[in-house]
Amino acid sequence: MMEFHSSHLKPLREGFVPIAWSEPVSRGGSVRVRAHTCGCMTPSYELCSAAGLVHIRRTVRSAGGTCVSESPWLRSAAAHRLWESLLDGHAR
Ligand SMILES: [Zn+2]
Repeated sequence: MMEFHSSHLKPLREGFVPIAWSEPVSRGGSVRVRAHTCGCMTPSYELCSAAGLVHIRRTVRSAGGTCVSESPWLRSAAAHRLWESLLDGHAR
């Protein structure tokens, strides 16, 4: 039986750009998830849009619970470039 998997991250590349992850901040309004990586991997990542900006949400699941952090909030084009870099292993 085939299992459905969504995007998997490529292995991290040499010279990758570290993303400035920080504690999630509620900015009001609804958050829409535009894309997400496969739930079989931890951390998993979601591309979220809210209040006209786009950010990436990182969720780390462990025995101790779930830890969520966020990338900086960016304009759509910059956030999509960051998302592609994340998937390709150029940023993490
Ligand atoms: Zn998977």
